[in-house]
Amino acid sequence: MSTLLEVSGVSVSFDGFKAINNLTFQINDAEMRAVIGPNGAGKTTFMDIITGKTRPDSGSVLWGEKSVSLLSMSESRIAQEGIGRKFQRPTVFEDQSVADNLMLALKKERGPLSVLGFRPSTTDGEKVVDLAEQIGLATALHRKSGELSHGQKQWLEIGMLLAQEPRLLLVDEPAAGMTPAEREHTTELLVEAAKTRAVVVVEHDMEFVRRLGCKVTVLHEGSVLAEGSLDHVTSDEKVIEVYLGR
Ligand code: ADP
Repeated sequence: MSTLLEVSGVSVSFDGFKAINNLTFQINDAEMRAVIGPNGAGKTTFMDIITGKTRPDSGSVLWGEKSVSLLSMSESRIAQEGIGRKFQRPTVFEDQSVADNLMLALKKERGPLSVLGFRPSTTDGEKVVDLAEQIGLATALHRKSGELSHGQKQWLEIGMLLAQEPRLLLVDEPAAGMTPAEREHTTELLVEAAKTRAVVVVEHDMEFVRRLGCKVTVLHEGSVLAEGSLDHVTSDEKVIEVYLGR
């Protein structure tokens, strides 16, 4: 399996405070990874660095087979490279149907010109149905998104990101505020998505991380404190001390 993203020795300071401190991280194609760590560990800043929102003071962020540097690219260029990010709060168009939201996301993939000359083709229609099935909203295609449950909105937003066919999907606390059944579905959705792309899940909920069944990276004070299976990292003395507060 080839390396998709390679972050090496990255640091960033805010007013002299090192939020990210010599961080090194790698993820392969079609790999799922959970990133955990206490509040202030640097998880958000780390995601901001990958997406180009925050520029590191030092280190490198290399992408793809050709190991191109993401550091010289704008945020929108990085998104075009195939890095999609889902924030905690869903940002779907509430007054539009599920189908329309997915269709808009498909158009976005092809850039602004496709919006001007847009005519939904059978293929687009089929893709929307496929995506809706993938996210478990096939029977809600014509419902207004504003009427969906919190969990359903989260899935719709994941579907909208999948429509853009990212190679790396960054997801921030996808299970927050969900019912147990919704969490179960979210797990299945992410595990399925990670079969064909890399997925990084920033998460607090250990039970959810366990269900993802993936390698875990523990951040603390802007560095990687431990990495490996959930059982491995949660039995690490350093992790127990700083993360579990024992
Ligand atoms: P996490 O997502 O793990 O909770 P963050 O990446 O949000 O951690 O924050 C890491 C540290 O960097 C925190 O101490 C936070 O206060 C600090 N920080 C993050 N962004 C900024 C900023 N724009 N200005 C100053 N400090 C910041």
